[in-house]
Amino acid sequence: MSSRKNQRQGVISWVFLGALFLLCAILGHLQYRWIDEVSTASTKRLHANLRTSLEQISENFNSDLATACRALQSSGMDADSAPGPVEDKVAARYAQWKRTGTHTQMFSRIARAVPQGEALAMRDLNLQTAVFGPAEWPAGWQGLKERLETRLAADPRRPGRGPGLESPADGAVFELPILEPRRDADGPPFRRREAGWLIFEINVPYARETVIPELLKHYLPGGGERDYQVEVISRAAPPAIIYQSDPTSPSKIERAADASAGLFDVRFDEIFHHRPMPRSFGRGFRPEHGAGGRWQIYVRHRAGSLEAVVARVRLHNLAVTGSILLLILITGGALLRFTRRSQRLAELQMEFVAGVSHELRTPLTVIHTAAYNLQGRMAREPGQVERYGALIQRESGRLKELVEQVLQFSGAQAGARVIQETEPLSVDRIIDETVEASRGVIQDSHCTIEKHIEPELPRIMADATALKHALENLLNNAVKYGAGGGWIGISAQSVGGASPAQVEIRVADRGPGIPAEEQEHIFDPFYRGRRALQDQVHGTGLGLSLAKRIVEAHGGTIRVRSSAASGTEFIVRIPAAPLESANDLVHSSRRG
Ligand code: ADP
Repeated sequence: MSSRKNQRQGVISWVFLGALFLLCAILGHLQYRWIDEVSTASTKRLHANLRTSLEQISENFNSDLATACRALQSSGMDADSAPGPVEDKVAARYAQWKRTGTHTQMFSRIARAVPQGEALAMRDLNLQTAVFGPAEWPAGWQGLKERLETRLAADPRRPGRGPGLESPADGAVFELPILEPRRDADGPPFRRREAGWLIFEINVPYARETVIPELLKHYLPGGGERDYQVEVISRAAPPAIIYQSDPTSPSKIERAADASAGLFDVRFDEIFHHRPMPRSFGRGFRPEHGAGGRWQIYVRHRAGSLEAVVARVRLHNLAVTGSILLLILITGGALLRFTRRSQRLAELQMEFVAGVSHELRTPLTVIHTAAYNLQGRMAREPGQVERYGALIQRESGRLKELVEQVLQFSGAQAGARVIQETEPLSVDRIIDETVEASRGVIQDSHCTIEKHIEPELPRIMADATALKHALENLLNNAVKYGAGGGWIGISAQSVGGASPAQVEIRVADRGPGIPAEEQEHIFDPFYRGRRALQDQVHGTGLGLSLAKRIVEAHGGTIRVRSSAASGTEFIVRIPAAPLESANDLVHSSRRG
């Protein structure tokens, strides 16, 4: 009945575990897909954020530049007077801008190209004194000079079309036209023509050390340069590095960039008409398609790429999810195990109650009958009375033992000490007293008892009552279960090599042995072997568990060696008493 119930519960448990596993697998699959989707979305979002940041950086850099140019060359400036006054105006504007503007170190050189016949004269603005003076064309500006001269020669009366920034070969130099109203009789009065150029050279070290870092700090997402590697490269041939967040790093990020945008793209109309930059201006993120601007800014995440960052987060999320699901599975499994264990324990306790009741009833019935007979004077012969007396004594002794064992077990469960004071004791004497206490049952079993004690055994530190109780349990079990073999052996010897020294006590029988699968349970409280239950051998299932507790409380060990062929042997090891205390006892016993 109970085994069928057990089987059913076992099946339910496995079904529960299977369902849990299936659920975890489904959850895992859903979570995996979800994490994938989230990762894809994150990659897109990170790219979009980075692009927006670069657009902002680009816009801000260009508008800083445009603002500075506007401050020096407003739409109102013209060449309606002699060169002198134009220069005065520019110089005055420069002085004003220097006092009130931002990024006033943006330009390392400001100059004027003045047409003189076919040639272009060069006049340089002294940035300290704000005064123009004649100067030589710098070596690096030759390209620009030739371009402007070509432009002048081709059609000097054509309206200005823009600052001519199309030529990246000019590097950090660009020009803005100085316009004068067209005096042509046929043309509309508001049209103007180029009457020279203002030339600006960007202060590259200042852009590198101040302008670009400020913009990066402000607009790059997250930790800015802590998270991203940044490079600004001039698109002149050959390309020059304007800015590098990691100057020592040998690798260029250009090809492996997460995003890029054009920088340094000042538009003619932006400066003269105060129009905002078109939004599409900085969107050339693929350098080969050429974003506007003479410079190109490249950004790459320090993890290698944004995809690598997302992959790392994805892996982390997968690991967390996997761990949670694994934890759920382990918890489920453990819960099931504990439930089954406690069920088993509850069953054992039920069996124990039934067993103990049975154990109590048998001697009680005998005692009750004997007492009844004595009281009713049914036994009149002195021999008969003596026999009844002996019967009552034996059965009440069994009862007492039973009750004591239960009490001892419940005391131990409640945390009471299973042993009291220990003292150095002779193993020989303890064994003798144990055998003596079990003499009655041994005799009834008709077993031969063989005792072998090694001479000169060291004493052991033990609580005599408790240890005798443990050994008695072993001896009684040998009688109860191994009497069929007709032989019980009890031996003691010292264990060589153990530290501290130990004494080994063995209790053996030649009975049917303990099945291998039962051996790991026999020290559990309430556990009774299948054969013990089948043959209705007296017992509570507490004897070995108590013996184990007592031995372990002495600092010792107990184990079993059993087989159907050779019977059962319990091996107890107890630490020997330290030499001084053993000697003390020897001396005091001599004195006594
Ligand atoms: P009890 O003897 O009251 O059943 P124990 O705790 O003393 O409880 O023993 C637990 C079980 O171990 C026994 O039910 C029995 O199956 C097995 N056992 C103990 N000693 C022996 C032995 N010497 N030979 C065979 N089986 C044994």
